[in-house]
Amino acid sequence: MENVRSDDTILHLLKHEDGYHWEGVSLASSGLYTVENEPPEPANWKGMAPYQRINVREFNEIPNPPHINDFFSLFAEQLRALLRTPERSFYQEYGESKRLMVAQRYFAEVPDNLYELFSQYSTIFGFNPSFDTDQQEATSNEPAYPDESKPGRIPTTISRIVRDTKLVKDLKRQYKWKCQICGERLALRDGKHYAEGHHLLPLGVPYNGPDVAQNVIVLCPNHHAEFDYGSIAIEPNTLVIIHTDEQNVFNGKTLAYDRPDLRNEYLRFHFEKLYWGNK
Ligand SMILES: [Zn+2]
Repeated sequence: MENVRSDDTILHLLKHEDGYHWEGVSLASSGLYTVENEPPEPANWKGMAPYQRINVREFNEIPNPPHINDFFSLFAEQLRALLRTPERSFYQEYGESKRLMVAQRYFAEVPDNLYELFSQYSTIFGFNPSFDTDQQEATSNEPAYPDESKPGRIPTTISRIVRDTKLVKDLKRQYKWKCQICGERLALRDGKHYAEGHHLLPLGVPYNGPDVAQNVIVLCPNHHAEFDYGSIAIEPNTLVIIHTDEQNVFNGKTLAYDRPDLRNEYLRFHFEKLYWGNK
């Protein structure tokens, strides 16, 4: 927590009656510092002075905050593998069943490979936070951080990177933000476009896929979600699109554009291990 610096990405988990939900993402606009007074609108933090805080800006709220258990179920294998280095993790294995649960701490570090799981997860339910990295700190007349003082809600987790790697940015530009499957691209204001990079062999533990062009395809958010969910794949030898729903309009079609550089080994991994049609 002492290591938080301006522009670190912060993931907010808040505790509700039924457990923790992932509420959103923001950027740190300060490091950790101590305030002598009690918190503004202290609610159940009344009398808690001095307190420590980190200012944040550009809170991107998730409209229907997902329960953290959904995240734990979806990525149980990867999360357990990552826990081999559990120091300061925001989650732990509890009890004989080694159930994954949120650890009781206010701040935890999120290494790149764990962040990548959150990033994959966010694309599944269509949460695409965006940050204006040039923006200055919040002005003094607006709350510098979201309403974690609401009764019954406790901020927990923290940390870093939201931005694409340079490689993914370059690839998106090279392929003009067009989806490898449908050839569509999302138009944003000011003539900009939006696409997402997908690693066929996922980054991070346990797969440790490489961040190289041979392993990355450019997708629209819908097809990215289908890749993450394993309902669509590219057959590694024929490069034909295959979908778990045979009626899907892209099932059996060729790719929207050629990618001769994609490595067969990575396509094969996704096709054989992550595509549900093969399970
Ligand atoms: Zn698409």
